[in-house]
Amino acid sequence: MHSFAKNKLKIYNSLSGKKEIFSPISKEHVGLYVCGPTVYSNVHLGNIRTFTSFDIIFRYLSIIGYNVRYVRNITDVGHLENDEGEDRISKKARVENLEPMEIVQKYTVDFHGTLRKFNLLPPSIEPSATGHIIEQINLIKKLVEKKVAYEKNGSVYFDVINYNKSNNYGILSKRNVDDLIHNTRALDGVTDKKNPQDFALWKKADPEHIMKWDSPWSKGFPGWHLECTAMSSKYLGEKFDIHGGGMDLKFPHHECEIAQSKACFGTNAANYWVHTNMLTLNGSKMSKSTGNNILPSEIFSDGSPLISKIFSESSVKFFMLQAHYRSILDLSNDALLASEKGYLKLMKGIKILEDLNNFSLETSFDIKKWELSCYDSMNDDFNTPILIANIFEAIKFINQVYAGKAYLKKEDKIKLLEIINLFVFKVMGLKKPVLKGDDEKLDKVMNILLKLRNEARNKKNYELSDNIRNLLNENGISINDNDKDSLYSID
Ligand code: AMP
Ligand code: ZN
Repeated sequence: MHSFAKNKLKIYNSLSGKKEIFSPISKEHVGLYVCGPTVYSNVHLGNIRTFTSFDIIFRYLSIIGYNVRYVRNITDVGHLENDEGEDRISKKARVENLEPMEIVQKYTVDFHGTLRKFNLLPPSIEPSATGHIIEQINLIKKLVEKKVAYEKNGSVYFDVINYNKSNNYGILSKRNVDDLIHNTRALDGVTDKKNPQDFALWKKADPEHIMKWDSPWSKGFPGWHLECTAMSSKYLGEKFDIHGGGMDLKFPHHECEIAQSKACFGTNAANYWVHTNMLTLNGSKMSKSTGNNILPSEIFSDGSPLISKIFSESSVKFFMLQAHYRSILDLSNDALLASEKGYLKLMKGIKILEDLNNFSLETSFDIKKWELSCYDSMNDDFNTPILIANIFEAIKFINQVYAGKAYLKKEDKIKLLEIINLFVFKVMGLKKPVLKGDDEKLDKVMNILLKLRNEARNKKNYELSDNIRNLLNENGISINDNDKDSLYSID
């Protein structure tokens, strides 16, 4: 247990706009809620970046000794286009000519499979919005009773102006209700809302709408913001420790969650609100709805014109972790190539350490101090780029020992390896590839295959050479033409 790090952890809290010492409600337990995906299309690499950041937060909190209950929901109803349009799942069901629940199933399976490939741990509870309709109806009843919600023609809306009379709508996103009123598009007469900034808690369904439930107001469906309040309060309590999601969810989604919780329970839901920054492509946010995105499958099977080669999950993940979760990160082929190089350099360094047997009586590296700096980087708001820089300090030392320019005691090899393994594989969740030299028989087979591939390339038979590479890749074997030492790696 690495619990000495517990008292030093600082987390940037979007609510206060500051890094704060993390102090959970209970000494031993942490409640972590992360908004999950709306399962109407395949997850893209931007989504993966956000879920990877929270996976590392979950892993680190557990490693330093907390018993973490990690709740991540599945949004399978109520997420409307532009907050007022068609339900995204219903629309996709129409387009794909499937039942809405077939859409939900199809993209939930994709989501789980992709996260597993990236070695992300499953949450403790993964509740769905459609599984919590009763809880959502009960919350709406409470909000109506408290006069911060009103019914109109079978739909129910949250009354932002009434709420704001004794509360602060905008506390998270630092928006001011008067500015919001001023800047929000005037009502177009189609909606039943009293004011443009009000948001739907319950929507009456059209007769042809499939996903609908009975309620005191109409046959309809819940609004998107409500599900997270219903599920977080049910599984983590009315007040819990950390609530997370991408920066794009801060407003209106999280602002609305806070308003609902404050009105129902008198709390801001969570003590720490954590937001991850966006993965961009060509300088713009990767997004499902605009189509400006790359899917994991495109990177793993050579299917994107923007990417020159197939990359392994771990090198893509390494690329993401080289930026702090609160910084914008732009994806490009060059950046991926550089990260792949870095990832393989790290893996080779670890392998050198594992195989090392030229020991000395002294160690010319302060392991204790270095270990503390690894914890310090994670304790500083989960700073993975600094952690990686620290780990490369140790890799540099390992390479020096290998070259006979530095010294390592036998006992310290075990210590060093243990700490590296902890941070690289347990905290960051990277996977260890099989490198050239790890398996003699495999090396022989690979040499034959690579020889055949080179012959094909020399004869300009690129169809065959690409085919060999793609087939290997489908089986988790990446070949690296630029690096002769690690000619292949298996994830
Ligand atoms: P969605 O399914 O669109 O609700 O997104 C699921 C999660 O991915 C949310 O936490 C979003 O904030 C996050 N997300 C969406 N796009 C990006 C992006 N380009 N970069 C990082 N996170 C994103
Ligand atoms: Zn949410």
